[in-house]
Amino acid sequence: MEKYLSQLNEAQLAPTIQKEGPMIIIAGAGSGKTRVLTIRIAYLMSEGVDPFNILSLTFTNKAAREMKERIATIVGASEAKNLWMGTFHSVFAKILRIEADRLGYPSNFTIYDTQDSDRLISSIIKEMNLDKDIYKYKQVRSRISSYKNSLITVRAYFQNPELIEADTMARRPRLGDIYKEYVERCFKAGAMDFDDLLLKTNELLTRFPEVLMKYQNRFKYILVDEYQDTNHSQYLIVRALADKFQNICVVGDDAQSIYAFRGANISNILNFQKDYDDVKEFRLEQNYRSTKNIVNAANSIIEKNQTKLEKVVWTANDEGEKIVVNRSLTDGDEGRFVASTIWENKIQHHVPNSDFAILYRTNAQSRAIEDALRKRDIPYRIYGGLSFYQRKEIKDVLSYLRLIINPADEEALKRVINFPPRGIGGTTIDRLVVAANGYKRSIFEVMKNIDKTDVKINSGTKGKLLDFVTMIESYQVMNQTADVFELAEHVTRTTGLISEFKKDGTPEGVAKMENIEELLNGMKDFVEGQKELADTTGNLAEFLEDVALATDLDADKGDADHVALMTIHLAKGLEFPYVFVVGLEEDLFPSAMSMGTRSELEEERRLFYVALTRAEKQAYLTYALSRYRWGKLVDSEPSRFIEEIDEQYLNITTPIEERRFNPMLDADIFGDATSPELSRRLDPNKIRFKAAKQPEFKKGNTSKEEPIRNQVTTPKNLKRVVETGDNTNLFDNKLAVGNLVKHIRFGSGEVLKIEGAGADIKAEIKFQHGGVKKLLLRFAKLEVI
Ligand code: ATP
Ligand code: MG
Repeated sequence: MEKYLSQLNEAQLAPTIQKEGPMIIIAGAGSGKTRVLTIRIAYLMSEGVDPFNILSLTFTNKAAREMKERIATIVGASEAKNLWMGTFHSVFAKILRIEADRLGYPSNFTIYDTQDSDRLISSIIKEMNLDKDIYKYKQVRSRISSYKNSLITVRAYFQNPELIEADTMARRPRLGDIYKEYVERCFKAGAMDFDDLLLKTNELLTRFPEVLMKYQNRFKYILVDEYQDTNHSQYLIVRALADKFQNICVVGDDAQSIYAFRGANISNILNFQKDYDDVKEFRLEQNYRSTKNIVNAANSIIEKNQTKLEKVVWTANDEGEKIVVNRSLTDGDEGRFVASTIWENKIQHHVPNSDFAILYRTNAQSRAIEDALRKRDIPYRIYGGLSFYQRKEIKDVLSYLRLIINPADEEALKRVINFPPRGIGGTTIDRLVVAANGYKRSIFEVMKNIDKTDVKINSGTKGKLLDFVTMIESYQVMNQTADVFELAEHVTRTTGLISEFKKDGTPEGVAKMENIEELLNGMKDFVEGQKELADTTGNLAEFLEDVALATDLDADKGDADHVALMTIHLAKGLEFPYVFVVGLEEDLFPSAMSMGTRSELEEERRLFYVALTRAEKQAYLTYALSRYRWGKLVDSEPSRFIEEIDEQYLNITTPIEERRFNPMLDADIFGDATSPELSRRLDPNKIRFKAAKQPEFKKGNTSKEEPIRNQVTTPKNLKRVVETGDNTNLFDNKLAVGNLVKHIRFGSGEVLKIEGAGADIKAEIKFQHGGVKKLLLRFAKLEVI
């Protein structure tokens, strides 16, 4: 333990070995908050605290897993296994399963993901004959979600005239009725949505004092990371659980509070002192993550916010490179800039793809970046898009599995009752839904007892319904002995899912088959992993629990080497050597939807602070002058956030239209910088060429006397240009047949032929690797060797 404590600075050590009492660490990005939490847990254990008595709440399950692994290296895996560690949702889902019957839920309740909630809300809107353009399901869902996170139950809603009034004013007078129906349907289906996991935990802890006491006694030590982003519901859970022993340690940074739109309440961190007696407050000031340039630039941004706690953040790290600011003409060019910069860095510094992250404000921005990365064969992975488990074919498989555990699960049933097609039509399903509501039973029960009901369904269809019931029941029997992999393998075969996708035959169908295969492989891993890390059997129920709360980030096993693409929201707590923050444009970042009030704008600024502080070595800020949004090309202006950074920390590179013919950056492999899109946007009247420095590329310079001049360079020349930035006479050489040349991508080769004139001169070159190529000298980055 001593060894690990000695790896902390003094300011970090103090909260780490402060064993008892309420405490808060408020500190800027990269100052070691998460590290302190981790080492503190190991310290508590080394001091004899039972891991069963420690509850640690993190922002993602991945963060929890990493923490656990780190702790395992300090205190040993068998001890670390017993820690209660995870996100609020995953930890309290576990507790709810144990206590479910008190709330009238089965312990095998399903967790509805957002897709399930959306589908249920949509069908309720339809059943109630409401206008779906006024009652947009996503808006309705987010309304219901915010009620739940503020602990406003259906009953509380109907007792609050102000809420009813507000929804009526928003032309949605039936919102309360939808809320009521939604809650009842979830209950009947034995399902909880994500918000329920917190709401029901609160209900459990307030309605049952003995349960509260049980968990207060269990969690003698509570630690919460990213405390600035807890919502009201989470806040109340923590407060209730910590109330008895008050050994509560929260860490956070008010400057990184970025989830207000989802109900996070920054005052939770600001008011912590008021909630407990004798709160010890700790500050960490030294940043270990980033260079001086990055730390100082980030400080200069956050200073602009009025609502903030004063903090000092400094670093002893190197000055580092200045932050590169790059302007592009279009989003396509922006993507190309990012891709080529990654490519250059990889070559120059021999770093893996995983050293790079590309962060954006909205998921829609990833497309242009992806295109550019693909062109250069740079492997990447998008996080937080449609997660693997939400893909249609995967959800189909999972729906069958969910039915095995909980046949009342309405959304799962509706999904697969007629997929693969088995002749159970829409009308039949509608009738079943109505009957189930009438009998106050699940659809599955109605199906099972179809002969005893008065549902109008012909006998042929009744037979099909009963076949379906029998099939699910046979799986339930199998589930008693088989592990999740064996079971799923059997299910995908016998339901006809596999043959359904095989029959499809299209590339999409093949991709779906592969995904199902990946799911099955994942299950195998899961079975093994559960036995090792968690001491359980790896059965279906455990698997479904894991999947329901898995985010994309969690699925990452860190085994593949790829560039990470994600929204800034998702990047919280992470760090990468090289970070690109793209799309720094007004109305995009800050978002057009968040500029109405000062507090919204300040949240956007905090988001920018989070983005920039992810970078260890080098940050790039990019923006485009025009961008495709909602299918249209719109003009854009640079984000105010760029201007807000103290200029001394910035390296504002030559805008792309000025350097597009700079062979140092754009030649050949960069030749795609002259996309048709860019050419279209290239208005010569607006573009300032640095004519004096780049005479060779001035329009009309096709002079016969110097056809080859200025097209080829030597290593010496290149070095000079790199060192001085002056590219005068860069190409003051002639190229002749027989010359040996070096190309940035194809390596060395011999010039076989030269043809054409002026800007169109081409050379035929035989490369060692890649064979004979004809290259336009204007773009080919050639060195005579
Ligand atoms: P964020 O606010 O972004 O969540 P944080 O305050 O949680 O950041 P950490 O992620 O714990 O900061 O630490 C940032 C980086 O600095 C990590 O790579 C960590 O290992 C390193 N670090 C922290 N403290 C020290 C230290 N005393 N010596 C060396 N490295 C350290
Ligand atoms: Mg952290």
